[in-house]
Amino acid sequence: MTNVEYLEISPTNLTILKEQAIDWALSHGLVIRTNSNLSSTTVHAPISLFPSPFPKKEFEFALELQPIFNLLFHKLSRDHEFIEKIIGKLTDVDDFLEKLYNIYITVRKEGVTQQISLGLHRSDYILHLAPNSTEAHIQQVEFNTISSSFSSLSALTSELHKYLLESLKYFDVSPTLKIDALPANEAMINLPKGIAKAHQLYGSESAVVLMVVQPAERNAFDQRWIEYILMNKHKIHLMRKTLLEIQRDGELDKDTKALIIDNKEISVAYFRSGYSPKDHPTGKEWNARLLIERSKAIKCPTVAYQLVGAKKVQQVLAVPGVLERYISNPSDVTKLRSCFAGLYPLDSSPEGEAAAKLALEYPERFVMKPQREGGGNNIYTKDIPQALRRMTLLERSSYILMDLIQPPKMSNIVVREGEVIQGEMISELGIYGVFIGDNRDEGVVINELGGHLLRTKGRETNEGGVATGYSVIDSPLLI
Ligand code: ADP
Ligand code: MG
Repeated sequence: MTNVEYLEISPTNLTILKEQAIDWALSHGLVIRTNSNLSSTTVHAPISLFPSPFPKKEFEFALELQPIFNLLFHKLSRDHEFIEKIIGKLTDVDDFLEKLYNIYITVRKEGVTQQISLGLHRSDYILHLAPNSTEAHIQQVEFNTISSSFSSLSALTSELHKYLLESLKYFDVSPTLKIDALPANEAMINLPKGIAKAHQLYGSESAVVLMVVQPAERNAFDQRWIEYILMNKHKIHLMRKTLLEIQRDGELDKDTKALIIDNKEISVAYFRSGYSPKDHPTGKEWNARLLIERSKAIKCPTVAYQLVGAKKVQQVLAVPGVLERYISNPSDVTKLRSCFAGLYPLDSSPEGEAAAKLALEYPERFVMKPQREGGGNNIYTKDIPQALRRMTLLERSSYILMDLIQPPKMSNIVVREGEVIQGEMISELGIYGVFIGDNRDEGVVINELGGHLLRTKGRETNEGGVATGYSVIDSPLLI
């Protein structure tokens, strides 16, 4: 991919542009807090100064895949035999999955009281340039079924880039740049719209939406935007509570199983917490999760949805013949499969043993992933052999192995806390999906695109999160 001419910007113009970017971000809520304290300093979100070039064809392909993935994950979440076979097997090696799985089994035995489910997903991709190839294609990093973040700040970054590119025209550095190469990004309104639709299907005028938050992220602006839009546009009230507070303040109505918190009925429980062991320091947080799962509230996601978002499931989906069980259209199967990187088990099966051997021999080709979300858990390339040698077979079984996706060279300029960093970068594209299913009639109520996110990081960085400090928020310039 060729570099874009805006990188030729002069130091003087770069300073002007940086100041414009920071002030736009601060004046439009494209911001983060430096810590969880409400009165802590608020700074601009880490952002790229320019959009990053991204092949139009691959961007559009990612959009095309999203409804197919949305429906696939819905079907997986309803396939008890599959969940039992794949996740049930992991409960011996993964304490966190075991606790989630136990909630799933408990509620299944008691009888599920809410047939409608809401999915606010995000499928993440990196462009892969195969050796000896000139054309890069997207490969899926992972599919997120819980707490897909940055929908709001991402849409704001798309707006910021429109403004900055307009500004660039006056510097005369980018005469050929077309602003319509920036795709519209409605992620900020589409996620609240999905929540509002689920709320409406719940069917109680006086009910409110619950956002399950982490104590440290209670006032994150990305989440605040969802609240503002729900309240201003949809006239729906949103309550924020941590799992601990829900355990303390929540109860179920004995007759209806409605979830009641502070005397308010909850229509939709939207999780922005609950995806990591760190979110459950005691049994109380687990009790809260069980309370919600038992309730009549519409869950985003249900525990079943969360379980099928496990990385082990991603690996199993890549096994020949598995996709075909859920997707009847062969061309859809081919499309999904074309974006899968090599994925391998690391258990005691012959395939698992062969993969472990391969990873010891060629660690630079792989990444090892445990069944975790939220960043900072993977083991990359040169660290793999030592990790494999240290692990028991049981520990090793809780990981999957994945081919390292190798993106083409790309440069950009990013700003983090006022500091400009220029260099070779890697971008990761996320596509949001909004799905509402109703099990009573196998019904798909909504299966839509939600918008997109581009995160960009230094080429030498393995991990990818924005909140974890590795990446900045970017937007794609379609070429
Ligand atoms: P998490 O659930 O922690 O977000 P991910 O699978 O998204 O786990 O991995 C975290 C980051 O690691 C990604 O955002 C991406 O930057 C990088 N990464 C993950 N898998 C690969 C891969 N196969 N090739 C290259 N980079 C990867
Ligand atoms: Mg991820």
